[in-house]
Amino acid sequence: MTKEYHPETISVRAGNVPTEHGENSEAIFLNSSFRFENAAQAAARFSGDEPGNIYSRFTNPTVTAFQDKLAAMEGAEQCVATASGMSAILACVMGVCNTGDHIVASRSLFGTSVQLLTNIMERWGLAVTLVSLTDLAEWQAAITPKTKMFFVETPSNPLTEVCDIQALANMAHQADIRLAVDNCFCTPVIQKPLALGADIVVHSATKYIDGQGRCLGGAVLGSKALMEPVYAFLRSAGVTMSAFNAWVFLKGLETLPIRMEAHARKALALATWLEAQPQVERVYYPGLQSHPQHALAMQQQTNGGGIVSFDVKPKAGQSEQEAAWALIDATKLISITANLGDAKSTITHPATTTHSRISKEAREASGVKDGLVRIAVGLEHESDLQADLTLLT
Ligand SMILES: *Cc1c(COP(=O)(O)O)cnc(C)c1O
Repeated sequence: MTKEYHPETISVRAGNVPTEHGENSEAIFLNSSFRFENAAQAAARFSGDEPGNIYSRFTNPTVTAFQDKLAAMEGAEQCVATASGMSAILACVMGVCNTGDHIVASRSLFGTSVQLLTNIMERWGLAVTLVSLTDLAEWQAAITPKTKMFFVETPSNPLTEVCDIQALANMAHQADIRLAVDNCFCTPVIQKPLALGADIVVHSATKYIDGQGRCLGGAVLGSKALMEPVYAFLRSAGVTMSAFNAWVFLKGLETLPIRMEAHARKALALATWLEAQPQVERVYYPGLQSHPQHALAMQQQTNGGGIVSFDVKPKAGQSEQEAAWALIDATKLISITANLGDAKSTITHPATTTHSRISKEAREASGVKDGLVRIAVGLEHESDLQADLTLLT
C-alpha cells in the first residue's frame, strides 16, 4: 500500500490480497504445506529464486497478510510474526546478537522480558546491563565496545514513565548500536518508534492488536537487512504464529485505530476523575498535565494510551497493601487479572503479582509501592468504571 493513505485506511486495507475466489475478508489458510507444479518449481522456491509458499513454519498466506498489514502500519520494510510476544523478543535478540555481545535494557521492562534477557540469555553468553528508563546518562555510561542493542519499553508498566525514543536512537547510532522498542502499550496507532529513529519494533499481539483477549502472538519489525537473520531464526527455531491466530489479529488490526482512540479517551476520563478523589494519593497517566513527562509523551504519542495507575491512600490503621487489595476486591465489573489490552477493563496489584519477583527494596526504589493499583482501561462506559471503584466514591 502506498503512503498516500491515512492510517485508518492502511489498517483496514493493507495486506489484503484476495485469492481467485475474490473473498472480501481474508480467508484462513489452515494448511501446513504447499504443492509445487513440478520439481523445478520446488527447487526454485527452496532456493529463494521464486517467491511463494513452501511450509507454514515459515510461509503462510494468512500470516503474510498479518505481517504486511502490521508492517504498513508501523512504517517498517518487513515484519516477522511470532508465536507470542516473548518469542518476538527472543527472535529479535537471537537475530541481532551473538555470543559475547552486550545489551543495555531498561529496568522497567515487562517482567518476563527481564527474566529472558538476564536468567536465560546470559546463560548463552550475552551480557546484559539494566538501567533507568528515563536517565539517558545511565544508558550512555553503560555502553561498552561490545554493546549491540538497546532494549526499551515506553511508556513503562505500571508507572507509565516515558523515554525519549529519538534521543536514545541518536545515542545508540553514534556507537553503532541498534535500538529495539517494545511498542505493545502504544501500538502503531499511538506511537511509531521507527519514525522516531528506532531500528526495531517488537510487539506482543496478544494485547491491543487482538483487543479481545483471545490469542497469543507477537511480531518483530524493521528493515529488510535487520529482519533477515530474525526470519532465519524463526524458520529454523519454529517460533511461528499460527494461521488461525494471524487471522484473528488481522481482524484486530482493522479496528485498532478506533479502539485505541476509545481506550485512550476512557483512560483520560478515568485518570482525570481519579486525580480528584481524596482517597487517591497520586495518578500515573501520560495524558495528564501532572505527568512529569507529559510534554515528551504528547510529542511522541498521539495520546496517553489505555493504562492508568494510581497510589491508594490507606485509611487509619490500614497498610498500603490492605488499602489496594480492599479497593480491588470491592470491584464487581472490572476483571481482576494482570492481562491488558482487552475490551474488558482489568485491575491488578503490581507489587504482589507482576512485580512480586522483585525484592521489596528494589520495587520501592523503582516507584512501585504497595498501594499502587493498575487499571488497563477497556471499552466499557467510563462512568460504570468509576462507579465500580466503590471504595473511592
Ligand atoms: C505481554 C507483554 C509481553 C509478552 O507477550 P506475550 O504475548 O504474553 O508473550 C511483552 N512485552 C509487553 C510490554 C507485554 O505487555
